[in-house]
Amino acid sequence: MNIDIECVVIGAGVLGLAVARALASSGREVIVVEAGEGIGTGISSRNSEVIHAGIYYAGNSLKAQMCVQGNRRLYAFCEAHAVACQRLGKLIVATDDAQRGALQRLWEQGRRNGVEGLQLLDARQALALEPELSCVAALWSPSTGIVDSHALMLALQADAESMGTSFAFHTPFESARCHPAGIELRMGGAQPMTLGCRELVNCAGLSAPQVASRITGLCSSFIPVPRLCKGSYFSFSGRIPFRHLVYPAPEAAGLGVHMTLDLAGQARFGPDVEWVADVDYRVDPQRADSFYQAIRRYWPGLPDGSLQPAYSGIRPKISGEQQPAADFVISGPAAHGVPGLVNLFGIESPGLTSCLALADRVVQEIGGCSPH
Ligand SMILES: Cc1cc2nc3c(=O)[nH]c(=O)nc-3n(C[C@H](O)[C@H](O)[C@H](O)COP(=O)(O)OP(=O)(O)OC[C@H]3O[C@@H](n4cnc5c(N)ncnc54)[C@H](O)[C@@H]3O)c2cc1C
Repeated sequence: MNIDIECVVIGAGVLGLAVARALASSGREVIVVEAGEGIGTGISSRNSEVIHAGIYYAGNSLKAQMCVQGNRRLYAFCEAHAVACQRLGKLIVATDDAQRGALQRLWEQGRRNGVEGLQLLDARQALALEPELSCVAALWSPSTGIVDSHALMLALQADAESMGTSFAFHTPFESARCHPAGIELRMGGAQPMTLGCRELVNCAGLSAPQVASRITGLCSSFIPVPRLCKGSYFSFSGRIPFRHLVYPAPEAAGLGVHMTLDLAGQARFGPDVEWVADVDYRVDPQRADSFYQAIRRYWPGLPDGSLQPAYSGIRPKISGEQQPAADFVISGPAAHGVPGLVNLFGIESPGLTSCLALADRVVQEIGGCSPH
């Protein structure tokens, strides 16, 4: 087989863009192939746009490490590239005494993970920050913030392009075959083509397991079963009385129906948790009832009729409803034995926060600087 290009990245979401940029800055020649018409048409444009601090994830997990590193790297990147972001800070609230223990555990875990500035607050201190809240205690996280995710992706793309990366849109990956000399790819779309590369990184988000299953030479035992977990959002019409992000104590599979602000100061609530069989982004207006109920536990003043169905996103889970949450998986040659191949699986939240740290980890997995 011929080698046409050193590296191919599948997917132009925030991960594919960050990985392409990191590979290009290590001296590699990179092409990003994307099935959609442009960057960020998948999970990366259907999330809360929160820069997480690293509180929720078990010590030594990849999620904890990548999130804590990624948080610092992301703020620095945004500053250097004039990407809008705000370090608003967030309150995780206990609404009854039974939830105090959960806050204490999050505080301990966050501190072990290296999150700076975490503080347990009593109700009086929390209400001094957000007078409309109803809570018995809260955990204050000053390094949590928000980012314009599309501006971030544009900046990553521009950086990657400035280092020679090229992009092929409307170019769906179809299959690949691993040879001793490299990997041969087949792409579909209006102009089907084959491409030989030395290194292939699968950043296909929800489709990453399906993409991996079409790589001949990769043993199927290294491919997780994909599970889809939808999260719907409702927007709030009116003036929101909060200046910081407000989260309830976390629930299974999600962080609880929280209140986030966008950079224009508009509030939205979500995402909730709904295990689904197919990708369908429509938001069922009937879910509003459970939103009112969940939000009024920490904001009793939420007016009737103030929530409108907004949008939804789907978490690319690799563990099922009854199983413990899975960690991020970066599956490289050291795990599966195929030289030059890295698959990213289960990159759910905090994937946006972690994108720069994860991208560097991918370059390490493939093997540091370009050998060519
Ligand atoms: C509801 C929700 C809320 C979230 N909130 C946050 C948050 O507040 N903070 C945070 O840090 N993280 C959050 N996340 C996680 C974050 O959004 C994701 O981790 C991140 O966006 C994943 O990016 P990605 O590039 O892996 O996937 P995607 O953005 O989905 O990109 C994958 C790309 O691959 C392309 N593709 C798929 N198949 C093929 C193929 N065969 N050929 C070519 N291209 C293909 C797709 O078109 C897509 O563009 C949230 C996620 C969800 C679902």
